[in-house]
Amino acid sequence: MLDGLHFRIGHGFDSHRLEAGEGMTLGGVRIACDWKLVAHSDGDAIIHALCDALLGAIGGGDIGRLFPDNDPRNKDVDSKVFLREVMRRVHAAGFAVVNADLTLIAQVPRMAPHAPAIVQTLAAELGVDVSRVNLKAKTNEGMGHLGRREGIAAHAVVLLHCSEKSKA
Ligand code: MG
Repeated sequence: MLDGLHFRIGHGFDSHRLEAGEGMTLGGVRIACDWKLVAHSDGDAIIHALCDALLGAIGGGDIGRLFPDNDPRNKDVDSKVFLREVMRRVHAAGFAVVNADLTLIAQVPRMAPHAPAIVQTLAAELGVDVSRVNLKAKTNEGMGHLGRREGIAAHAVVLLHCSEKSKA
């Protein structure tokens, strides 16, 4: 699979609808709030964007192709299951994560109290130190569908490098 390139970059985007509800999972962490995400899976937009960034970096397609939302096996599934399969593919392609930079755009819930747990959870899944995962959460300043709390969106950028194992 290796073609002489030592680094690969990938970008991912995801969004999900918001409704009144009893909490949501973002970045693999359960967040208690008065909202929920409407999705076939758990709607974890941060992990979905991250998966697409990782897949993009290895030329591996996208999360929708891997885990179709019309497949009953993916109903209400914990998105960490998706991320683990994507990381299996990253390693199989001979790559490891350098760092991940994540941006969540959400008017609600308030993310600051949850950011450290999300960073810790995702760093463990990616096999990197917490210093290699950055999460930025911002509102949309009340503008547009995100500002009206109709949904949330997430962007992810990752850098991969050839893993030592594959170089040997
Ligand atoms: Mg999604």
